[in-house]
Amino acid sequence: MTKPSDVQPIRAADVTNYDHEADVLVVGFGVAGGAAAYEAAAAGAEVIVLERASGPGGSSAQSGGELYLGGGTAVQESHGFSGDTPEAMFQYLRAALGPNADEEKLRLYCDGSVEHFGWFRDRIGLEFGQDFFDRPTWMPLAPTDGLMWLGENAWPYNELSDVVVPRGHRPAAPGFAGSLVMERMVAAVAEVGAVTHVDTRAAKLIVDGDRVVGLTARQFGKDVTYRARKGVVLTTGGFVDNEEMLVDHCPLLLGHGKVSDGLDDGSGIRMAQAIGAATRRMSMCQVAYTANPAMTARGMLVNGRAQRFHNEDTYPGLWSEAAIREPGKVWVIMDETGFEEVPPMDGLGLQPAFAAETIEELAEEIGLDPRALAQTVENYNAGARAGKDALGKDPSWLRELTGPFAAFDPAKGLSPYAETPPESTGYAGFTLGGLHTTVDGEVLSISGEPIAGLYAAGRASSGMHGEGYISGTSLGDGSFFGRRAGRAVAGTR
Ligand SMILES: Cc1cc2nc3c(=O)[nH]c(=O)nc-3n(C[C@H](O)[C@H](O)[C@H](O)COP(=O)(O)OP(=O)(O)OC[C@H]3O[C@@H](n4cnc5c(N)ncnc54)[C@H](O)[C@@H]3O)c2cc1C
Repeated sequence: MTKPSDVQPIRAADVTNYDHEADVLVVGFGVAGGAAAYEAAAAGAEVIVLERASGPGGSSAQSGGELYLGGGTAVQESHGFSGDTPEAMFQYLRAALGPNADEEKLRLYCDGSVEHFGWFRDRIGLEFGQDFFDRPTWMPLAPTDGLMWLGENAWPYNELSDVVVPRGHRPAAPGFAGSLVMERMVAAVAEVGAVTHVDTRAAKLIVDGDRVVGLTARQFGKDVTYRARKGVVLTTGGFVDNEEMLVDHCPLLLGHGKVSDGLDDGSGIRMAQAIGAATRRMSMCQVAYTANPAMTARGMLVNGRAQRFHNEDTYPGLWSEAAIREPGKVWVIMDETGFEEVPPMDGLGLQPAFAAETIEELAEEIGLDPRALAQTVENYNAGARAGKDALGKDPSWLRELTGPFAAFDPAKGLSPYAETPPESTGYAGFTLGGLHTTVDGEVLSISGEPIAGLYAAGRASSGMHGEGYISGTSLGDGSFFGRRAGRAVAGTR
């Protein structure tokens, strides 16, 4: 673990020799670093990207590759969702990424979304899937699946605007498509002339007065120095892998799984903090709970008091964020009819570990209060009979639950094949807070002034997010504001 002294800045006057020099140094080659490097190099700047791993990619390459885009993209239009607007997209994201989403960044992101889709397609060479996946899921897996709902059609978001359209965009690759995003990004960045130095871990910033003029790095066991004629862009990812930072800033994620490549140790954030940079929203995080959305939509989620707490037919990240704050373990409860309705490919082969003829027997088996669970099912069924769910689940998913009943333990994960389920809470996440930046990626000092020569984007910075997260908005805002930072540092914004 990096110690505080490991990030203390170096004075330029104490640097006798620079091993490398460029207009722009980009630190970290994930989606944000790639986008910044691309734009800076395309604007004519000489760019070096430093990457501590042996190859580019970061968490971005391991991701699902979902990008939250809208306002009338070609994929939306091809499925007849022609009425989308930046304003409707803004209304949705402000609510779903809130409370306290960054409205200035959100507005720019929504206004620029169609252009950003075109940039990915035409400049980065990323192909998007063309099919519309119209069912509850964490992520469609077929290479043709290109468009999906991310909560827009669920209550309360479906009442925000007259425009209710899907905006989850997926690259045309099977399974987790982040590798395709980064494969195309790496090729595009090389094409515009940026150079990448791998196995190079940036360690400390070099400052000349108030200005960042370079950095030191560890490279193959040696200390090396880099000079930046125009500026340094920190795109080092978040800090979910840094236990001390989690303790200090985001204890909600302590003890849970980490949605990362294992290198999200917050080094960029700390390097900048060491020269007086401000951070923002460090306690905000994304949370995923490994319950199957095809099952939750047809059944219910209950907490340790056997109570429902969220409509189960929405984007699963939204009920996950609620679930982690609920008392006790959260279970998925279904009946046999609902279980049999799950399309086999959506069920992922999951079988219930607990089943019983009556809801009281099921409650006994999983350690919930039988009377409380029976009451919860009765309340749910009353809502189903009336066609109005107390928590806003869409009537199309409402049906009275009758025995036999089954319970799924999300902590066992989504794979039916694991012989010994991993020791897990079922929750995993990544951090959303980071360096406080302007919309052009300038890092602000704790007194609120831009620090000359220092920029940041992606999860090293605080982006659009408040207290909520929707899939596709991390790759989305990382690449969008990475591009803006790249143009700003090159001097062409
Ligand atoms: C399994 C999984 C699925 C996901 N699915 C999605 C999805 O579908 N859609 C979505 O929007 N988000 C998704 N995410 C989240 C998303 O991938 C990340 O939040 C996003 O990629 C962060 O991008 P970034 O460019 O900020 O950081 P990264 O992609 O992590 O890149 C940071 C890079 O910086 C390097 N680095 C760190 N410190 C240093 C240093 N000191 N010197 C040099 N290099 C350094 C790292 O090695 C890394 O390569 C997923 C994440 C995971 C792990």
